[in-house]
Amino acid sequence: PEAKLKKPSWLRVKLPIGDSYKNVRNLVDNHKLHTICESGNCPNMGECWGEGTATFMILGNTCTRSCGFCAVATGRPDPVDWDEPQRVAEAIHLMKVKHAVLTSVDRDELKDGGSIIWYNTIKAVKALNPGTTLETLIPDFKGQEENIQRVIDAAPEVVSHNMETVERLSRQVRIQAKYRRSLEVLKYLKQGGRRTKTGIMLGLGETKEEVIQALEDLAAVNVDVLTLGQYLQPTQKHLPVHRFVHPNEFAELREIAYELGFDYVESGPLVRSSYHSERHVLQGYGR
Ligand code: SF4
Ligand code: SF4
Repeated sequence: PEAKLKKPSWLRVKLPIGDSYKNVRNLVDNHKLHTICESGNCPNMGECWGEGTATFMILGNTCTRSCGFCAVATGRPDPVDWDEPQRVAEAIHLMKVKHAVLTSVDRDELKDGGSIIWYNTIKAVKALNPGTTLETLIPDFKGQEENIQRVIDAAPEVVSHNMETVERLSRQVRIQAKYRRSLEVLKYLKQGGRRTKTGIMLGLGETKEEVIQALEDLAAVNVDVLTLGQYLQPTQKHLPVHRFVHPNEFAELREIAYELGFDYVESGPLVRSSYHSERHVLQGYGR
């Protein structure tokens, strides 16, 4: 589209206010942590932070990749911070949440892809917060099984890896990733005994048929949880929004996904990978 599309009313969100929000703000700052909520300009910060929760982004805030939809900075990352796992664990402890979500930038320059810090972080969080369940949204680790296995071994309750888009647009949307490789990652995680989850953004130019094809591909590798949300352009330099998908269409895709066998589906304009994560941790609340 030539001109920037006007945001429809269903994308209006609450402003971030209140004491819980301030608590999360202080925790993040005091522990020198990063969140994808901020780095990704998430529209749900008012809601999530207002409820006292956030999604920490580990391994720094500079990514070696440059996905066309993502607001995280690309470049040469800082050296690995071995104290980060403990700080994350302490911050989660202070947040007093029953469920936490972690994600990371991609560290393709590291031999282990950052999987050792991932392992250490999951272990540290579990040690300090035995009652807290954990979802980990991980990179593809270039498909290297040794690194994916490290995450499986640390045993977070849910492991997510996002497809982000349909097969045809994958090159454009996430240049250094591959659609088939991501499917393989999800398959490997599931075979490793993890509850798996993935997310797709809509509004990037995909057709409905292509979305359904992607859902079929994901169902074929037994992915448990699916999120479908509206893509929003973080800055003018990022991929444009092709269209704003109507809430009814999200509802229709939710039905289709359930028919394909997903255990739990979140589908709606403001849905993000980590949105309402606590609702589907241990069991599907769908049907
Ligand atoms: Fe953060 Fe996820 Fe909530 Fe967005 S939806 S504010 S990224 S926890
Ligand atoms: Fe953003 Fe992840 Fe892509 Fe890095 S790999 S640019 S953090 S979406």
